Amino acid sequence: MTIDLRFTGLLLLLILACTTVRGDAANQTIQWRSLKQVQRSLGITNHLWDGETICFSNSQDVLRFYPGRRKAEVNGTVIWLSAPAEGSITDGSWGLAAIDLDFLKLSVLPRPPDNAHEPLRVLLDPGHGGDDEGARCPDPLVKEKDLTLALAKRIGAQLKKEGLHVDYTRTRDVTLSLEARSRLARTKKADLFISIHANHARNHNASGVETYVLPPSGYPGTAEGSRVRGWQIGNRNDFHNTLLGFSIHRHLAATPETIDRGLKRQSFFVLRETSCPAVLLEFGFLSNTGEARRMLRTDWQEQSCAAVVEGVLAYARSVKALDRAVAEKRARDAENNERWRKHLAAQAARAAAEAEARTTRQLAAITPPVAAPLLTEPNTALSNTVVASAISITQQPGTNSAPLQVDTLLEFYAPDKVQ
Ligand SMILES: [Zn+2]
Repeated sequence: MTIDLRFTGLLLLLILACTTVRGDAANQTIQWRSLKQVQRSLGITNHLWDGETICFSNSQDVLRFYPGRRKAEVNGTVIWLSAPAEGSITDGSWGLAAIDLDFLKLSVLPRPPDNAHEPLRVLLDPGHGGDDEGARCPDPLVKEKDLTLALAKRIGAQLKKEGLHVDYTRTRDVTLSLEARSRLARTKKADLFISIHANHARNHNASGVETYVLPPSGYPGTAEGSRVRGWQIGNRNDFHNTLLGFSIHRHLAATPETIDRGLKRQSFFVLRETSCPAVLLEFGFLSNTGEARRMLRTDWQEQSCAAVVEGVLAYARSVKALDRAVAEKRARDAENNERWRKHLAAQAARAAAEAEARTTRQLAAITPPVAAPLLTEPNTALSNTVVASAISITQQPGTNSAPLQVDTLLEFYAPDKVQ
């Protein structure tokens, strides 16, 4: 990996000097942050490289990265980065995508403040329903659409006890389109949207919990070969999506008997088309008989739903602080963009002035021999082009007589006539 340091000098250029640029598989430019920039930004000075992972730590947090992979761990909870943390620690080329550093700094690492939670409006979305039964386990018989409805009702009841307003996309076994589910977030004026699902895989040993949020614009989802999309409605909430996802996932992944498959990113319809912060939870695999049996247990459901509620409450305590942090970041970004725009405009103006000066010098070098000798010494051999140039300089543009003069003079001074 080669890191180019560009634009040093001015304050703006110093800011931009913090940016390194490389291309990624999606043919887009990613801004990267070096090891020192990551440490400075997160306030973590220690790092340990054990040959396979790099671990940053301070008295509060432990972050682990796997070079070349998108997997990372934050205080033991697995998260998947938007781009792999690439490069080598030993040669100083290690880098983290700027977007991931921003997510870590603003959404993932801040502790929930010690204040009361906001009385948010939560829209719970039990996946599938009606004609669409989702995944199923044949023995014991579990249909995803029934399990998701049961979990949603448990979560909703606990959230109401905590003083939050709860709505559901469905409370019965009915078919409901994805569009209708996203639309309800708008009509119900939801502050956050939680879609509830159970997983299925060809590998019947697959197990564990996954939490999904929308990938940032231009970045692929976590799954291999994911399509890269441009900006979606859900991207207006990138930082809030990440905070909501991480808040829920770290509680959910910490419940007993749970394998942590990570906070992942995928462009599911209800994540990209929902206007409020949104997550999609995969509680476990119905293709794994042992896990399906576990998901039917009342104690497992109580623990898992309580974990989701804890996560939502942590989000509801943090959301105001995140609102402020995001507003400050956007103001800083706008200021930097404006400085950059002015710098580019000044650079363009300088280049234009230099080009004009160059043209003036060149014209001055070729203009003098043209007009005077032509009229006093008609025997001088002159090309039609030179004569036309001389005339066009002196004639009035737009006058009816001008073309006649040009034709006449060209005729008169044409080389075959004057010789
Ligand atoms: Zn599902």
